[in-house]
Amino acid sequence: MSGIPDRLQAVENAIVAACREAGRAPGSVQLLAVSKTFGPDAVLAAVEAGQHAFGENYVQEGVDKIAALAGRGLAWHFIGPIQSNKTRPIAGHFDWVHTVEREKIAVRLSEQRPEALGPLNVCVQVNISGEASKSGAAPGEVAALAEAVTRLPNLRLRGLMAIPEPVEDFAAQRAAFAAVREIFETLRGRFGPDFDTLSMGMSADLRAAILEGATIVRVGSAIFGSRTYDK
Ligand SMILES: *Cc1c(COP(=O)(O)O)cnc(C)c1O
Repeated sequence: MSGIPDRLQAVENAIVAACREAGRAPGSVQLLAVSKTFGPDAVLAAVEAGQHAFGENYVQEGVDKIAALAGRGLAWHFIGPIQSNKTRPIAGHFDWVHTVEREKIAVRLSEQRPEALGPLNVCVQVNISGEASKSGAAPGEVAALAEAVTRLPNLRLRGLMAIPEPVEDFAAQRAAFAAVREIFETLRGRFGPDFDTLSMGMSADLRAAILEGATIVRVGSAIFGSRTYDK
């Protein structure tokens, strides 16, 4: 676990620097630490260094970590692909879901959300890279899906999420994020102040994402180190 506090600090510094470059308030970007494939001890090292929001991609792994770290006031975000037979544990344990791409999944999450937990925060995932990506709703379908989410009683529509195709070129990174931001801004007028979240940017493209308006960046390897496996 050594190194996690220093790497976390370096990522926080990079976020502040990008905010400054963008003329944005440093507190306007939240760091989501993506702990997939790392154990509860790694999460705990980040918690002790001040981190409180964590992202998980795999349902059972995430649920196990949530249980292992209960009672610490952490926020858990589900950011992986969702199979319809896995919606119940997601609805029952997570605070946020970033990867809603079909109405059927949204309906199940709402039906299965325990009322005692309050509404589940939801972002609609946008497929901004076309055929290069299989995940996310097509840009032309996002408004209707978001509208459907607003009608579900146990979901709270918070914004959009995107994972653009990885590219090295900075201008190309910015262009993809700018396209997501345009959709976000169009919809903000329609959905009002609760629609406040733009989840985009990872270890390799966080600066471009912040320059284009990200409010949550999802960072894994830059904090926890490279993953020795990925499912
Ligand atoms: C793994 C993952 C991340 C973090 O990626 P890094 O490159 O390790 O920062 C962010 N978002 C999603 C959806 C992921 O699956």
